[in-house]
Amino acid sequence: MVMSKTVLVTGGSGFVGRRLKEYQPYWTYISSDDCDLTDAKSVREMYKDLCPDAVLHLAARVGGIKDNVSNQADFYYLNTMMNTNVIHEAAQAGIPRVLSSLSTCAYPEKLKDFPFNEGVFFEGPPTKTNFSYGMTKRMLHVSSCSYREQYGFNYSTFCPSNIYGPGDHFGTEASHFVAALVDKIYKAKNGETVELWGSGLPLRQQLYVDDLCKIIPLLLQNHNTDIPLIVTPSENTSILELARTLTKQIDKNVRLSFNGKMDGQFRKDGSNKELLKIIGAFKFTSFEEGISKTYKWYSENQ
Ligand code: NAP
Repeated sequence: MVMSKTVLVTGGSGFVGRRLKEYQPYWTYISSDDCDLTDAKSVREMYKDLCPDAVLHLAARVGGIKDNVSNQADFYYLNTMMNTNVIHEAAQAGIPRVLSSLSTCAYPEKLKDFPFNEGVFFEGPPTKTNFSYGMTKRMLHVSSCSYREQYGFNYSTFCPSNIYGPGDHFGTEASHFVAALVDKIYKAKNGETVELWGSGLPLRQQLYVDDLCKIIPLLLQNHNTDIPLIVTPSENTSILELARTLTKQIDKNVRLSFNGKMDGQFRKDGSNKELLKIIGAFKFTSFEEGISKTYKWYSENQ
C-alpha cells in the first residue's frame, strides 16, 4: 500500500486517535459526531463520501474495570455493532485494507507460558472483568479473517498492551493504572501517602502512546497476516516498581500504600517477536522515560 493514499481513522477523537493525528496529520479522523459506527447506513454513506483506500479502526467502547463489569451489555452491543459495520461495509465498498485494534485483554486469562504468543489467542476465555469487551475484540479478529479469506482483502488486526502517555484519560473512572497513578501523585501533597489498588506485585507491560503512533504506519504497510499481532515492549514491571519509578522522579515526598483489593492476574505479558519480524528493529521508550514525559505533559496541561 502506498502511504500517500487516503487513510480513514475511526476513533479519531480518542486518546490514541488524537495523538496519532500529531504524527499523521493528513489522514482523515472521525468521531461519533461525524458518523455513528453502530448504524450500518451511516457507515455505508461515510465510506461513499470519503472513498478511503484504507481504514484504521480504533473506535471502541473502552473503559476501566468498574465500567466494564457494570455495563457488559453496552460493551457487547456497541462494540459488536461498530466492528461488524466497519468491516462489512468496507468489504461491500471494495476497500482493500482495514487494520483494526484489538487489545491484549482479549487474550485468555489463564495461560501456562509467558510471555504468551499469538498462537494461544483462543485457548480459554478472557478475564471475567472484561469478558464482553474481550470477546467482541475476538470477534473483530474473526470477522477480519473471514472477510480476508472470502474477499481476498488485507484485513488484519493488532493487540496493544496497556497504552499510556500524554492525552490519556486522567483522573476519571475510565482511567487505566498509569493515568490514575499520574493523577493521584500529581494531586498528592508533600508527605502524603497515596493509596493504590491491589498488592503492587502483579507484573504489567506498558506501551508508550508515541511508540504506537510510530508503529501503526508500519503495520498499515506491512502487516498482511491473519494473526492477532501483539504490540508491546518487552519491559514487564511490577505495579509497585512502576509507581516507584514515578515517585523517584518528582520533587515532593509521596509514600505509596497498597490496599490489597482487586489484584488482577499476576502476569499477562505478551511477546513482541512476531511484531518485530513485521516492522523490523524498533526501540521502545523505557517506562522511566515515558512516565517522565507523561507526568510533565499532565503537569503542564492542568
Ligand atoms: P478512547 O479514548 O476511549 O476513544 C474511543 C473512540 O471511539 C472515540 O474517538 C469515540 O468517539 C469512538 N467511538 C465510540 N463509540 C463510537 C460510535 N458509536 N461511533 C463512532 N465512534 C465511536 O479509546 P483509546 O484509548 O483511544 O483506544 C483506541 C483503541 O485501542 C480501541 O480500539 C481500544 O480497544 C484499543 N486499546 C486501547 C488500550 C488503552 O490502554 N487505551 C489498550 C489496548 C487496546 P467519541 O469521542 O465521539 O465518543
